[in-house]
Amino acid sequence: MSQTRTISGVPVAPGLAMAPVHVVRAAPEVIPTWSLRGDEVEREVERLEASLARVSHQLDEQRRLVAEGVSRQEAEIFSVHRMILQDPGALKRVTARIREERLNAEACVEHLIRHLESTMSKLEGNSVRNYGADISDPWRLVVRDLMQRDFDAISSSGDTVVLAAEELTPYVVTCLDRSRVQAIVTERGGRFSHGAVLARSFGFPTVVEIPNLLSRLEQGMRMIVDGDAGTIQLDPDQAAVDLFLTRHARHQAKREVLEQHAGLPAVTPDGHRLLVQVNIESTRDLEVGDFEPDHTDGVGLLRTEFLYMERTQFPSEEEQYRLYRRVVEHFEGRPVTLRTLDIGGDKQLPYFKTPKEVNPALGWRGLRVSLQWEDLLRIQLRAALRASGHGPVQLLLPMVTAVEEVRRVHQIFREVRSQLAEQGYRVADDVPAGIMVEVPAALLTLPQILEEVDFVSVGTNDLVQYLLAADRDNPWVAKLYDPYHPAVLWALRWVADAARAAGKPCSVCGEVGGDYATALMLLGMGYTSVSMGPNFLSTVRYAVRTTPFTEAVALAEEASGLGSGREVRRLLEDFRVRLHARQTGAAGSAAGSGPSKGSQSA
Ligand code: PEP
Ligand code: MG
Repeated sequence: MSQTRTISGVPVAPGLAMAPVHVVRAAPEVIPTWSLRGDEVEREVERLEASLARVSHQLDEQRRLVAEGVSRQEAEIFSVHRMILQDPGALKRVTARIREERLNAEACVEHLIRHLESTMSKLEGNSVRNYGADISDPWRLVVRDLMQRDFDAISSSGDTVVLAAEELTPYVVTCLDRSRVQAIVTERGGRFSHGAVLARSFGFPTVVEIPNLLSRLEQGMRMIVDGDAGTIQLDPDQAAVDLFLTRHARHQAKREVLEQHAGLPAVTPDGHRLLVQVNIESTRDLEVGDFEPDHTDGVGLLRTEFLYMERTQFPSEEEQYRLYRRVVEHFEGRPVTLRTLDIGGDKQLPYFKTPKEVNPALGWRGLRVSLQWEDLLRIQLRAALRASGHGPVQLLLPMVTAVEEVRRVHQIFREVRSQLAEQGYRVADDVPAGIMVEVPAALLTLPQILEEVDFVSVGTNDLVQYLLAADRDNPWVAKLYDPYHPAVLWALRWVADAARAAGKPCSVCGEVGGDYATALMLLGMGYTSVSMGPNFLSTVRYAVRTTPFTEAVALAEEASGLGSGREVRRLLEDFRVRLHARQTGAAGSAAGSGPSKGSQSA
């Protein structure tokens, strides 16, 4: 019987993992904190001293270069910085903190910086200031050096790790090569934030909202992560490790059986088809080959902004064309839905400074940026239309608020198309264009918008935050952010009804579609497709293949009549239990291959 304590958080992405922990900054400017074991303390003091020596050496070099190339007077600042680092009082303060609090060096230097800054603010006019030397500056160099060394060590070690951070940001998810990441655990993080979307898409078991996580961790400590249950175990004993290994083997066997069904069409036993498509967030999705093209009915959402985020400058038309073409060819005739650039909020481009906004979720993002910076949109449309010469492409517009925006894009689209024709490029005759339903105004005016578009796709991640006035990235309102709130279910039904009345396809590409019970509810409402991260395709397809359409309709009807998100979640959970029983009972050799109870609830 294991004595290892299990700590609970909130599950974000399923799966099991065990690996040593590596603490990362939630964003490049955040300083990581972790605890040290007793026997690591002196090594940490040595790490600090080595860093001080390196930074002092750099400062000497800078002083020499500036003295030679500019003037001795200008070079003086580096001597001052070097003197500041030699202050025995400051050094004593940092080493004492490392030893007494048993915290990593960068966290203790950061503590010193805060102390110096508050002291400095009381010493207005002090001579240190007259030198123009912010006395905390050289210590910042030490923090940067420590973090860089630490990151270099982890990135060159080749080991696989569990990444631990304060917050689940896109930076944390992408800071290390995918093959090196076993799981992610954080103290904070919305379940529908972009970091969570990426973690799910990359298939990293992920748990957030783990109280006091970082203060419990030691760099390199072994951790077991259960992304289904939303729990972690630190420094597990042998019994916990054995249990993990048994469960892991079972998990793998289950996945293998599911994979055998993955290439079969997602058609219910009574003959209704649901297109089960994949969301792609990164070019690496294609390289890693997490999924075979015939395990999907195409790409329901290609988040092109991640292509932009992986670059150091705007990708050229040629670069975009080559990438879109690669995706189109990879999917061998299945439709690929390219969403135009959706930056803003926490999706920022390092080389494109957007204004600092008080309320970025309601600010300059998505189509609003593309319509203001029309050249960006024109280049992207040119690349997308050129790719359409190699296979079916659809265009999807994010953050649409009004029908005029759609009309303006259509006009640009026509201009770009005729320009390409004049230049002799091959472009498909039919490139359907649709909108993301994310903004309540688009939802309410949908019948009018539907006259202008070929299809719609509901972005529940954003629609939920705007309907419920609960920021998807803000952990303080995470409990209010409920994709099963009756208002959301009403909206989902309204979209399906409006699309059916207009005779146009409708899809859901938000995260909820990756939950197989929810996907069936959407099928019952009248959705023609759902799109999700690669890891959810096989369970959703198998669930569709084992559920009669009539049951999906009954599920949708019952859910729509309920008065709270909690009741809807309970209904979906009961449905999962029944489905699982049926799958394990009826599937013969596939017994046990169905989605396990509660393993995928969004
Ligand atoms: C959504 O909002 O549901 C969506 C799919 O877009 P994103 O998560 O990229 O904002
Ligand atoms: Mg969105």
